[in-house]
Amino acid sequence: MTGGVDAALTLPIFDHHVHLDDPSLTAPGQLALQWRAAAAAGLCGAITAGYGPERDADAIAALAPDRPLWRAVGLHPWWLAAAASDEARHAGLQQLERQLEGPGVVALGEIGLDALRKQALPIVEQRRWMARSLAMARAHNLPVVLHVVRAIGHALEELRACPPPGGVVHRFGGPAELAPALCALGLSVSLDPSWLRRPDKLAAVVRATPAGRLLVETDWPLDDRPWAAALHEVRELVCAIAELRGEPVAAMAARLVEDARACYRLA
Ligand SMILES: [Zn+2]
Repeated sequence: MTGGVDAALTLPIFDHHVHLDDPSLTAPGQLALQWRAAAAAGLCGAITAGYGPERDADAIAALAPDRPLWRAVGLHPWWLAAAASDEARHAGLQQLERQLEGPGVVALGEIGLDALRKQALPIVEQRRWMARSLAMARAHNLPVVLHVVRAIGHALEELRACPPPGGVVHRFGGPAELAPALCALGLSVSLDPSWLRRPDKLAAVVRATPAGRLLVETDWPLDDRPWAAALHEVRELVCAIAELRGEPVAAMAARLVEDARACYRLA
């Protein structure tokens, strides 16, 4: 779907969802190497998403004066499901509130619901923790980064009960009809390159999502690929979105960068 686009053309990409605190990236110099290659592939900024309090120090270590990098901190549904007890989860929430004051923090997340982890932590419990995180986002006036897997109905109920001050549903999986409901709550929906394998559904979700509310992401280091390789796929996704919207690719790429920065309220 990249028809007519110069393959050598580098498009700017703001990768608003990565995990630079991932344990696989802690070898000395590894992140610097990946960042350089990613920048050559068009990376113009990134947000590293939060997982749990233990990884905060590694996320802070990824910040550098020459990197346009910001952070979200949160209690990921997987972290909550893996926690040993409710006491541990409460302690995590208290730590989270302190970590919101840390360097580079512009959002609260990941937070949300994951039905694939309901064996470890029932959805009704997950909802309670999501509600607490949403209340914290409101108290601190921070946009949220939402992880929602097979629980969108539950998530919408929590979001309507306590609407956050903006944010994004990361790796939105569809269906397209849900996008307007999420956007009506002030949220953006973020697509990853897996949508390229579902062109009809991609067309539907692009049609259903209002201008300004569509973002793109890699979720790197998902799948163990180099960051630059993941960005090349996002570049294809940007081309596909431009074609569907009937806009020049360069203008669409620039707009997606602006929309990501606006979502996280970056100056
Ligand atoms: Zn993530």
